[in-house]
Amino acid sequence: MDGYHIPSTLDEALDLLESYRGRARVIAGGTDLVIQLRKKEREAEALVDLSALDEYKQIKVVDGTLKIGSLCTHSQLAGSSLVKSAAPALAEAAASIGSPQIRNIGTIGGNIVSAQPAADTSIALTALGANLIITSKDGLRDIPLGRVFTGVGKTALDPTSEILTEIHIPLEEGCISSAFKRLSKRKALSLPVLNTAAYVHLSEDQAYLQTVRIAAGPVSTVPWRADEAETSLKGARISLKRIREASDLAAEKASPRNSLRGGAAYRKKMVGIFVYRALKTAIENLGCDLNG
Ligand SMILES: Cc1cc2nc3c(=O)[nH]c(=O)nc-3n(C[C@H](O)[C@H](O)[C@H](O)COP(=O)(O)OP(=O)(O)OC[C@H]3O[C@@H](n4cnc5c(N)ncnc54)[C@H](O)[C@@H]3O)c2cc1C
Repeated sequence: MDGYHIPSTLDEALDLLESYRGRARVIAGGTDLVIQLRKKEREAEALVDLSALDEYKQIKVVDGTLKIGSLCTHSQLAGSSLVKSAAPALAEAAASIGSPQIRNIGTIGGNIVSAQPAADTSIALTALGANLIITSKDGLRDIPLGRVFTGVGKTALDPTSEILTEIHIPLEEGCISSAFKRLSKRKALSLPVLNTAAYVHLSEDQAYLQTVRIAAGPVSTVPWRADEAETSLKGARISLKRIREASDLAAEKASPRNSLRGGAAYRKKMVGIFVYRALKTAIENLGCDLNG
């Protein structure tokens, strides 16, 4: 390797990337990249380590948007009272990643850019309707998360010239909540058989669903939205029956593949069960008694 650089400003990081003309790559926690470099699945002549860019390790609410620096670790997100209250699905997703050691060093930015279809934070962020702020020498790009993923391990972001700096989650006014549900073989150090997340925005009287977003993975090559199930719940009166029907619809439309971590038929069935649990918890988080 030609060099390992630890810039102290974003401009310096971008200058370094530019000077290597595509031969240097960004590294954050290194929990994915170091393994990939060792296995020769990725190549880089130099690494630009972002760990000194403290500005992007912050979580704040500005003008109705939850702004999360891309260098926030999973431990930071899981323990943040701001994330727990404004975007519980994300706090729960971050808490379920790997082990304490991985959560202490792995970042939300790295989890997104690694672009695995069931990456825990990506599934939660998909349901939360997040946008990514991507910075390069040409300026800023503000892109909906769903437009960034292009395939397994692939994104529309080039880590040899661009840096994901922030993740923005819009906080709609009113009764909003979210939940994340994970199916895995063990509670720790186990990649998910299935991840699901749900976001709900209820009417003021908490009788109707105004907006619903449902995400799941691995169900496709990218984090998947259950569009038909979402549409079926828009404006619906809240009841366990409606939630069950929508969850069944999500399972019907999902087409997961067979893999080592779970067969396609099993995963498809689990989509229905875990989407149901995510929707129910998100609604119950707002104090609604669904059994009443
Ligand atoms: C034992 C183990 C268990 C794991 N368990 C889980 C799990 O349960 N769930 C899960 O989702 N993942 C898991 N992972 C994967 C990994 O820990 C996460 O994806 C982590 O969040 C990656 O973040 P990082 O900061 O380490 O990224 P890095 O390894 O530093 O980088 C990953 C990729 O993103 C790029 N990149 C990083 N930051 C930026 C940025 N700001 N801008 C542009 N490009 C960037 C890098 O160039 C690289 O391509 C596990 C990994 C290990 C080793």
